[in-house]
Amino acid sequence: MKSKKKDIRALTKEQLREFFVENGDKAFRGNQVYDWLWSKSLHTFEDMTNISKETREMLKENFVINHIQVDSMQKSNDGTIKNGIKLHDGLIVESVLIPTKTRTTACVSSQVGCSLDCKFCATARLKRMRNLNPDEIYDQVVAIDKQSRLYHNHKLSNIVFMGMGEPLMNYNNVLKAIDKITSPEGLGMSAKRITVSTSGVPKMIKKMADDEVRFNLAVSLHSAIEEVRTSIMPFNEHFPLQDLRESLEYWYAKTKRAITYEYVVWDGINDGKEDIKALIDFCQYVPCKINLIEYNPIDDGEFQQASSRAIDNYISNLEMHDITVNVRRSRGKDIDAACGQLANKS
Ligand code: SF4
Repeated sequence: MKSKKKDIRALTKEQLREFFVENGDKAFRGNQVYDWLWSKSLHTFEDMTNISKETREMLKENFVINHIQVDSMQKSNDGTIKNGIKLHDGLIVESVLIPTKTRTTACVSSQVGCSLDCKFCATARLKRMRNLNPDEIYDQVVAIDKQSRLYHNHKLSNIVFMGMGEPLMNYNNVLKAIDKITSPEGLGMSAKRITVSTSGVPKMIKKMADDEVRFNLAVSLHSAIEEVRTSIMPFNEHFPLQDLRESLEYWYAKTKRAITYEYVVWDGINDGKEDIKALIDFCQYVPCKINLIEYNPIDDGEFQQASSRAIDNYISNLEMHDITVNVRRSRGKDIDAACGQLANKS
């Protein structure tokens, strides 16, 4: 039977303090419990050793601590680890640890499934079931930080919201999670090391700028030609490039922070001269850099990685126009943990 008790991690610190005062204890007890729940990421009341047994029993009678579990773990030859994460209601999302020589990055999910419909993405084939709660996003980071320390001997250095789901469609919870991740009372990570990657929701990009967020913004662009982008990312029909462009100009005017465009080049889809020209034109609007991402086919369908020649053409033309371009080799391909592959065969 499903528990009717409230998840204690849905309470703010102030609400926890009030709870203790209302129950005849000191407000300070709320700070202690908050510290166990977030900074120490404890998932059982029994282990809160500076709290009396009686108080722990009272907490157990009133609350549960919902938390995630690493349900499955696959390790790639390149050190990448893909985790199947079981949520408290049994649903599964995926999170990935991506190690390089200089950093370890957590790629985290923000929704179960996705409501958008990018044709090249395995997650798009899953119906969106629900948004993740802030603690479920936070817990993914904690779990991957542990793996980073265990398998790579150093703490997690970066976070990207590029797992399952569109983070800006779960904006409030993503922001609450990032608040906790960056707070000294949470994980104390720098916002500069966090990147939220969106498929491009103009209204929400403007909202982020208004909210003066401190993290980085990446946009999965993939084409700067309207018809091509709509054919591979059909929601583009509702959020056309002109609106996206205006929202990015707004973002830059307010934050003065450059944008990263994520860009995959597919054979016969966006590998022509006109595609490169459109991208170069689009790059003139706001300071930006391009991540050219290697693609991993999710089946034998229409999306196949473009030839090396086509990719070299992109690189040389972008560089000729002084646009910074990084080629991102995909990691964890052998375990379907690479970009666009989450939910593939899992
Ligand atoms: S690429 Fe991102 S936004 Fe598009 S369907 Fe996949 S998870 Fe959703």
